[in-house]
Amino acid sequence: MLETSKELFERAKQSIPGGVNSPARAFNSVGGSPVFMEKAEGSILTDVDGKEYIDYVGSWGPMILGHAYEPVIEAVQETAAKSTSFGAPTELEVKMAELVKRMVPGVDKIRMVNSGTEACMSAIRVARGYTGRDKVIKFQGNYHGHGDSFLINAGSGALTLGTPSSPGVTEGTANDTLTADYNDLNSVKQLLNEFEDEVAAIIVEPVAGNMGCIPPQKGFLSGLRELCNGHDVVLIFDEVMTGFRVAQGGAQQRYGVTADLVTYGKIIGAGLPVGAFGGKEEIMQVVSPDGPVYQAGTLSGNPLAMIAGYTLLSELHENPVHYDELEEKTTYLYTGLSEVFTDYDVPVHLNRVGSMLGFFFTEEEVVNFETANTTDQELFKAFFHAMLKNGIYLPPSPFESLFLANSLTKEMLDQTLDAAGASIEQALN
Ligand code: PLP
Repeated sequence: MLETSKELFERAKQSIPGGVNSPARAFNSVGGSPVFMEKAEGSILTDVDGKEYIDYVGSWGPMILGHAYEPVIEAVQETAAKSTSFGAPTELEVKMAELVKRMVPGVDKIRMVNSGTEACMSAIRVARGYTGRDKVIKFQGNYHGHGDSFLINAGSGALTLGTPSSPGVTEGTANDTLTADYNDLNSVKQLLNEFEDEVAAIIVEPVAGNMGCIPPQKGFLSGLRELCNGHDVVLIFDEVMTGFRVAQGGAQQRYGVTADLVTYGKIIGAGLPVGAFGGKEEIMQVVSPDGPVYQAGTLSGNPLAMIAGYTLLSELHENPVHYDELEEKTTYLYTGLSEVFTDYDVPVHLNRVGSMLGFFFTEEEVVNFETANTTDQELFKAFFHAMLKNGIYLPPSPFESLFLANSLTKEMLDQTLDAAGASIEQALN
């Protein structure tokens, strides 16, 4: 198993740092060699050795209707024949912006960028430019890409300043990023009081997907909204994972809370490199060339990325039944998995929001970074590798969410549950 993947990984390490172009792919959290993929269709991945897997990663989110979704592929091929990039405006960009405005609450204007990282970096700059303040509050265990402001660890106490979590990030940057605890409004209040009139923005994953899947507790998002209103702080929802997935209007629609700015990534390009940030007219008008906050990109609004995203989002918008089906399928897997783990007496806590699903091998209710860390990581590793052998491709880390696609069939879900039973038995022995 994995012979060609192993050979390719050895080769890759000679020319690419760690053999991968993004660290999560290197299997560092689970050990072993990453699987090199050859092709995919619907929910079936095929690796370079010809082995097939049922996919629960979905390229980390965008494959809501499955891989190689025919209308997207056809539209991309047709568009590519007219040129891959103009560096000049196209009607497609206008149609895309109009479609997002129809689907999402609270977005008056939207700017396309090339990744979720860029979207979040830009949103922070806009919030700073708009408020004239420097500091930003983020949450422990939330991920907003690799912009300097986000690579910051919490200090030792709630009111201490952050420290860089990566060499290359300056102390000065770290001093402007404050870290609060997810689902804990008091930790936010403390920071806002301590740094009164200094905080430009609060950025949050409205459903956390980067420490496993952790839903916001009742009142958390609306509480953040009230705090931002009270302190004139810009509320940014990072919907890179949740946008167009947990509802067509994302977490804003699902939880009935409207942010001031919202960021998107991966899904908005159906798997091509895209991100976007948008929000209230009053704030977005500071963005260049309307306003003084500079933001730009040679390939931003790229026609291939736009047509891919536009085709996927149009389908989701016109046929919202996809969301009902996704909800049903994910509930089926959630219930089945919890029965499997209970049958084997494995302490487990499962979280689900729409088609995002996370399981933690712990007795604790998982509500934040600290409780997520009580998961039995060794058991996860053994379970992950057994599942992989049994033809199920899970995210290669105990701290990532599963993303389901509507291309999953009942047979595939049953096959997954059978594999989960066999795999947990193997993992426990
Ligand atoms: N924000 C969230 C919530 C994410 O999950 C990610 C990536 O996984 C990002 C931002 C960064 O996006 P990208 O990897 O496209 O830069």
